[in-house]
Amino acid sequence: MKASLVLIFLLVIAGYAFATDTTQVFPTSAGPVKITPLYHASTLIEAGGKFIYLDPAKPANFEGQPKADLVLITDIHGDHMDPASLTAVSKPGTEIFAAPAVVKTVTSAQPIANGETKNWQGWTIKAIPAYNLTRGPAPGKFYHDKGRGNGYVLTYGGVRFYFSGDTEAIPEMRALKNIDVAFVCMNLPYTMTPEEAADAVLAFHPKVVIPYHYRGSDLSVFQNKLKGSGIEVRLLDWYPK
Ligand code: ZN
Repeated sequence: MKASLVLIFLLVIAGYAFATDTTQVFPTSAGPVKITPLYHASTLIEAGGKFIYLDPAKPANFEGQPKADLVLITDIHGDHMDPASLTAVSKPGTEIFAAPAVVKTVTSAQPIANGETKNWQGWTIKAIPAYNLTRGPAPGKFYHDKGRGNGYVLTYGGVRFYFSGDTEAIPEMRALKNIDVAFVCMNLPYTMTPEEAADAVLAFHPKVVIPYHYRGSDLSVFQNKLKGSGIEVRLLDWYPK
């Protein structure tokens, strides 16, 4: 008990560093980037003492976690855009960058559309398309219409991180270059299968790939398809109980 109190005190005086045993640390020329899976698509990114949340949404628990300096939102669905969770992670001065369709609801957000780039606190943030090629709720309809949602390529200290958002294996993903760490979605019926995700990953060949937003998917299929490719697959638990 005493030891844990001391630990908490040390963490607080260390500048509110946040880490769990699933936190991934990536060295860059500007210092380490720490990435913590929270739930499904919800992710916490820390670098240079600044905290970025990607798609903060329930049931991720934001209690006791650092407030956001920046929030990035990919799309309008509740697992990505969640006003209650946004309130939970916000403080005065929190900035929000979001796909324009999100800004209709989250009116305090600054729009960033497919293909646009913003610079923020040492980060370069580029919005990448994210959309369905074939899947939708009815013939001729898509769960994710082209142009609405964003993936993001985030660059810090020369290291390039890609978060796919909700997408199928679109040509824009397959054509990505020089990605160091890729976070790639898969789940049916909304996005894609593990086979399709692995096939796209083989096309753009990141150094490391981390499946996220994979609820119900067989990750061993994804892992097996990438065996021998030279791409490191890291499996993290995005669905803590
Ligand atoms: Zn989703």
